[in-house]
Amino acid sequence: MGNIVAIVGRPNVGKSTLFNRLTKSRKAIVNEVAGTTRDRQYGKVEWCGQEFSIIDTGGWVVNSDDIFEEEINKQVAIAIEEADVILFVVDAMHGGTDLDDHVASILRKTKKPVILVANKVDSNEWQYAAAEFYSFGLGDPYTLSAINGSGTGDLLDDIVARF
Ligand code: GDP
Ligand code: MG
Repeated sequence: MGNIVAIVGRPNVGKSTLFNRLTKSRKAIVNEVAGTTRDRQYGKVEWCGQEFSIIDTGGWVVNSDDIFEEEINKQVAIAIEEADVILFVVDAMHGGTDLDDHVASILRKTKKPVILVANKVDSNEWQYAAAEFYSFGLGDPYTLSAINGSGTGDLLDDIVARF
């Protein structure tokens, strides 16, 4: 299957919007993978002559704020198992939450490369808001806007450099 990138994060941070932006589709390929009980969205991305697969692991928790840690634990476990690179998406407009802290604490323990993505930086004024995510101990966040596409080129450069 080649290189696999998984998108994780709590609901409503913009994972699916980022997935659709990177795959340039509104409705991605949906695959039922043998041996798993959950649907996941798979897509293909091509960047600078490199192709990779991308998974929106949170596909089944559609816009629900009522998510349990157990659900997100499964999501992150899938990502850690399957992915070569993990995109951890947080929301710069809303700021960090306890659930973000929880995900960060799991991801700090993995040896897989984790790229921290501060989404919803639609304009420069939100750049400063993203600085708080440095405290996750996962490096400097990439600031981008999945809605308008700004910042996604730098992220893609970094992703393909890690394969
Ligand atoms: P998911 O639950 O993490 O998959 O998040 P979604 O992709 O479903 O997005 C949740 C909400 O955030 C939707 O209303 C999106 O339109 C909005 N959203 C996603 N990305 C951005 C962004 O870059 N900027 C802004 N302002 N809103 C965004
Ligand atoms: Mg989603």
